[in-house]
Amino acid sequence: MTLIEPAADRQSTALAPDLRSLPDRAARAWTERMAVRPRADGTYAVTTESDSTYLVDITQQSCACPDNRIRGEHCKHLRRVAIEITARRVAPPGKDRATCDACGTVTFVGPDAPTPHLCGQCRLETGDIVRDRETGDRLVVTAVTDTLADDWTVEATGQTVADYDTNDGYPDDDIVVLATYLSAAVSETDPREYAFPLSRLRRAEDAELVGP
Ligand SMILES: [Zn+2]
Ligand SMILES: [Zn+2]
Repeated sequence: MTLIEPAADRQSTALAPDLRSLPDRAARAWTERMAVRPRADGTYAVTTESDSTYLVDITQQSCACPDNRIRGEHCKHLRRVAIEITARRVAPPGKDRATCDACGTVTFVGPDAPTPHLCGQCRLETGDIVRDRETGDRLVVTAVTDTLADDWTVEATGQTVADYDTNDGYPDDDIVVLATYLSAAVSETDPREYAFPLSRLRRAEDAELVGP
């Protein structure tokens, strides 16, 4: 068993605001049962407890309900959409909700975003400088594939990336990232690419880039 250490930077936080201190509309936005469904055009259909459905356009700050349309109030439907976007329960306008293919957390991607879908923590891009967690070597990313470690066969050995002893302990369903050693990238015209499970590489901090 491996215990997961709480992240060192975990900040204490309240999960909901103090409802007693909120204006009525804001409190109801939190407490009433509503279903929020994102629509293809970037608006949201909000269905209320009383089974009315209103269209909310968060970019225009408008809602089709009488409270907003007639009384001009910042209604509970608008507020609810904002709450759900903030809580990552629904995607912001124009984005789709997806799980990160590497770590499984919820992330938001554009409609035509190429796979794999990676969250901000896991995202590596071609040209990123990374460190190999096993050796400490620095590499430059040459490609982020959408193939999993147990599906990627290394031609030279016939083994999959997941088969390698040095990749023991990294998930078999990690995405394969191709990278070349920085030293080779500097000195060779056609440096060799190596395949790594994504989580074996971590983005090098800027401060490391001048190091050995
Ligand atoms: Zn409304
Ligand atoms: Zn991730």
